[in-house]
Amino acid sequence: MQSTLTLKMTLFYGALFVAVSMLSLYGTRKAIESYAESVIRREMAVGSALFDRIATLQFHQLGQASNVLAGDFGFREAVGTGDVPTIESALHSLQGRFQLDRAIFVSVDGTVAGDVAQISVLERTQLYEALDAGRQQGIVRWAGESHMVAAAPIRAPALMGWVVFARNMGPRDLQALAKLTSIDLAPQLVPLANISDKSGVGIKTREVEQDGKRMLIQSRAVPNLIKSDPEMLVLKYSLTDALSSYSPILWALFGFGGLGGIVAIFGAWAASRKLTQPIVALERAARKVSAGEHVEVQVETRDEIGRLARSFNRMVNAVEARERQIAHMAFHDSLTGLANRILLREQIALALQRPGGSGFALFCLDLDNFKGVNDTLGHPTGDALLCEVATRLAQTCPSGFIARLGGDEFAIIVQDGCATANQTGRSLVKALGRPFAVNGHRIVTGTSVGIALAPQDGQDATSLLKNADLALYRAKHDGKASHRFFESAMDAEAQARRAMEVDLHDALGKGELELYFQPLFGLSQNRVTAFEALLRWNHPLRGMVSPIDFIPLAEETGLIIPIGEWVLHEACRIAETWASDIRIAVNISPVQFRSSMLNSIVLQALARSGLEPQRLELEITESLFIDNVEATLASLHSLRALGVRVALDDFGTGYSSLSYLRSFPFDKLKIDRSFIVDLLAHDGATAIIRAITSLADALGMETTAEGVENSDQLDILRAEGCGQIQGYFFSRPIPASEVDALLCKLDEKRIAA
Ligand code: C2E
Ligand code: MG
Ligand code: MG
Repeated sequence: MQSTLTLKMTLFYGALFVAVSMLSLYGTRKAIESYAESVIRREMAVGSALFDRIATLQFHQLGQASNVLAGDFGFREAVGTGDVPTIESALHSLQGRFQLDRAIFVSVDGTVAGDVAQISVLERTQLYEALDAGRQQGIVRWAGESHMVAAAPIRAPALMGWVVFARNMGPRDLQALAKLTSIDLAPQLVPLANISDKSGVGIKTREVEQDGKRMLIQSRAVPNLIKSDPEMLVLKYSLTDALSSYSPILWALFGFGGLGGIVAIFGAWAASRKLTQPIVALERAARKVSAGEHVEVQVETRDEIGRLARSFNRMVNAVEARERQIAHMAFHDSLTGLANRILLREQIALALQRPGGSGFALFCLDLDNFKGVNDTLGHPTGDALLCEVATRLAQTCPSGFIARLGGDEFAIIVQDGCATANQTGRSLVKALGRPFAVNGHRIVTGTSVGIALAPQDGQDATSLLKNADLALYRAKHDGKASHRFFESAMDAEAQARRAMEVDLHDALGKGELELYFQPLFGLSQNRVTAFEALLRWNHPLRGMVSPIDFIPLAEETGLIIPIGEWVLHEACRIAETWASDIRIAVNISPVQFRSSMLNSIVLQALARSGLEPQRLELEITESLFIDNVEATLASLHSLRALGVRVALDDFGTGYSSLSYLRSFPFDKLKIDRSFIVDLLAHDGATAIIRAITSLADALGMETTAEGVENSDQLDILRAEGCGQIQGYFFSRPIPASEVDALLCKLDEKRIAA
């Protein structure tokens, strides 16, 4: 990361510097070029001015000389007489005197005399035409050489011809002109016909490429005598050569630029390294943080990077604090602050690993009737109660490791042997048995405790927890507010229970459930007035299973809901086939009773079977009144509103408050079998039966005595005013198919009686 960022910055600044120096080098070169060009142009202007001046001077001198001869009397006479030898000798002598290259006489008729040997006929004709047209000065090309020419007319007085003097304008003369300018402009006189690019003609300067060199060329017309083929003055100078004198400067600039570039690259590298180093440190720190290490980036600077580093440190601390919080949340219960199940399991595992440890005890406990507290006093009070429970547990087991497993379940690990564990279990039950004062409420709850001892009751957390739970289950079943140690038999029982649970789940679908019917004999009517439907389970391996064994399991697992629904439908369906004066009594479990579906299930059973509602009698037990009396009464009234009868089963065994008898008018009280058994053994039992029958009479309720097994019992019950009799004396519960036969048999018995 450092390398790339440093490299990038170095390259960027290096490139920037190189670009800037290239630009300035280019600019310098351009400036030099235009300066050189302007110098050359100026020199060219000077050159052509000089040429003009020299030409004017020459023309003047030549003109004066020719005038001298033209005005000479003897010469005019010789012209007039056509004396050619005299003319030529005069011309010759003046040519010598004035150092002329040519001295010529042209007559008005075009004949030429003098130094004309190298002048062609065409050139002679052209000369004559120019003179004839009145031109007297100018440059002329004769025999491939340029000449400055001036002519003077000869008049006597009429025009007879012209004296023409010429001076050669060869390269040497032009070279002498070049010497007068500060640079060698290589002046040349060139016929216009020889100039290929005529665009530069005038005083134009143009740039051309010649032999790989850049040249500045100026071609300009000179005063010509013969207009048809004019001469041009051409000046040229090599721009390349002019610039080459500046190239040391440019090279020096280039060298310094390169040196500067190297310095700039080093500078940029050093600066960017200094800049990126803290960033690299931050990046390294971030990588360590993500690997779970604690790091603090050292900062000295007060700039943006320093601020970034300080923010980074703050962020790391905040993240760590939050991590600690999350870890705490993952292992603790948010309500009580106690350890949760995960941490408890870890602690159990640790305790099991401790070498040479004396073992420990695991306590599992849950509160009695916590749901009732939540339902009646609200969840905030329930929560507050749990916190109080946590405090009390800590006071009771100060050295224990306490955890909340969820809901009202707690667990404690204590370094206890069996004897001390027994003592601890007892004190836990006692401590939680004391009333709590929570949110202005006095709450009495209690606890059951299951205890598993390590290592004998389990080698790992899972089995220890399971076994302590089994012991808790037993403690609750054996009557609440007690503690139990785990025994291996509990495990077997639990497994059997689980196997039965699985089987029971399938029993309905497999048609293993069946209803048996036991008659209720009406004493005043002297006949069977009803049957009670009693559930039987024909288990393929266990044989006939008693409802006493499987109904509690069905209630625990909730299977009682579908089973109870089936019972209602089946009982109504069968009863409908009987005589219309025989009722059917169906047992309703408290779990079923509390479910909101009961009313609609009863309605459906009646509707589907077509049974009259008053022929259906629902048997409920007193345990329904233990908690939530109001809700129970409301449900009873709504059931009654369907038109069915309601009987109170096992009367006298449960919650012995008679007040609810006044609140709800049951149709019938079923006196529990225990009172009937007692009838023959205890004297007081008769008094109880009497008390119940007269109470029922007073409240307008019928009575049925359960479990009547002999005629002595029957006699007493009849004497004490009991309305109906149910028991083995008349019949055991029988399958539906035997009902008709039983009715006939009982009829015979009655007739016989
Ligand atoms: P329960 O409603 O009190 O039923 C009376 C029980 O007493 C029946 O036991 C019956 O066979 C037994 N019994 C009747 N006469 C005599 C007698 O002379 N001597 C003796 N020793 N026992 C007698 P069962 O059929 O074993 O039922 C036991 C309990 O199971 C019932 O007590 C009832 O609470 C429950 N139960 C039975 N079927 C159902 C059902 O379909 N739904 C629900 N929720 N519970 C049912
Ligand atoms: Mg019953
Ligand atoms: Mg009963």
